[in-house]
Amino acid sequence: MPRRLSLNHYVEGVLGGDRMVLARAITVIESYLSSDGELAARLLDALLPHTGHSLRVGITGVPGVGKSTFIDALGMYLIGDRGENVAVLSVDPSSPISGGSILGDKTRMERLAVEERAFIRPSPSQGHLGGVARRTRETILLCEAAGYRNILVETVGVGQSETAVRSMTDFFLLLMLAGAGDELQGMKRGIIEMLDGMAINKADGDNRAKAERARIEYANALHLFPASADGWTPRVLTCSSVAKEGIVEVWQMVLDHRELLEGNGFLAKRRNSQALQWMNELTMLGLEELFRRNRSVAGRLPHFREEVHRGRMTPFAASRELLALFRQQPTSD
Ligand code: GDP
Repeated sequence: MPRRLSLNHYVEGVLGGDRMVLARAITVIESYLSSDGELAARLLDALLPHTGHSLRVGITGVPGVGKSTFIDALGMYLIGDRGENVAVLSVDPSSPISGGSILGDKTRMERLAVEERAFIRPSPSQGHLGGVARRTRETILLCEAAGYRNILVETVGVGQSETAVRSMTDFFLLLMLAGAGDELQGMKRGIIEMLDGMAINKADGDNRAKAERARIEYANALHLFPASADGWTPRVLTCSSVAKEGIVEVWQMVLDHRELLEGNGFLAKRRNSQALQWMNELTMLGLEELFRRNRSVAGRLPHFREEVHRGRMTPFAASRELLALFRQQPTSD
């Protein structure tokens, strides 16, 4: 097979739900090559009228909380009991310290992985968060065009990636564990404000009672937050992927939220403001890219780095000079 297909081939393949073409189209989107960039843009343009019809759900939680087991169970429920399909994507910015993936390379979602009606695509393995998030947003659109009606976007509990996933989904779910009783102290205020629902996971065996206590504590804590304009009050549930309990209820919460926001116009509002935010981010990413590729900037950068490093120039002055160079000829690359 040729390395690259024609635009038409991609468009027809994706719209026809051809998983192999979909996977290759995502690779085009993920590619850093600027020639693929052109193709990616045309592909997205062609597919745009066929997007937007899915339920986009973000799922976060610390490593070990049980995200992949939960997604496996939820996906099997969506496919088996509800007769639907599901795409699973992830936003996993490489760890800046180890350079490795935080979500891990182990085989995740074992049952779902072999299902015809599930499409699993791990996060691009490299790149900074802005780039990874951009690709995931566009991959959501491709999956929608390919007919996926439920899109689960998984991320790890590291601040910025959660904000990114929240900004591309309709419902944001936090998975938690019942801890040693000091849950509330450990909760980051920022994330509470972002979430639409919380599930205390691993509510099975000896953990059941503890999970229920944690649920009540969290529910009380969430009540202290001001009501959100969309009229939805985040709920706290318990679930267990192992005992297969609570999964249906978690999904019902997502559906209730959908019904409310579709009815009161807030789903469209949320997506519209996400689109504007996305436009801003893309513009900033584009500017950054132009700046990095700019010849006069690149030529002088080592000099300014050295000057700042040796303390002969302030960072402020150096960055002003670099920006001045860029302004003189913004498109030189
Ligand atoms: P992730 O890192 O958040 O994706 O977590 P995993 O899904 O890999 O799960 C981490 C560990 O918790 C694994 O050993 C799972 O078998 C276990 N686990 C996941 N879900 C449950 C659950 O509902 N109950 C119990 N008891 N263990 C679970």
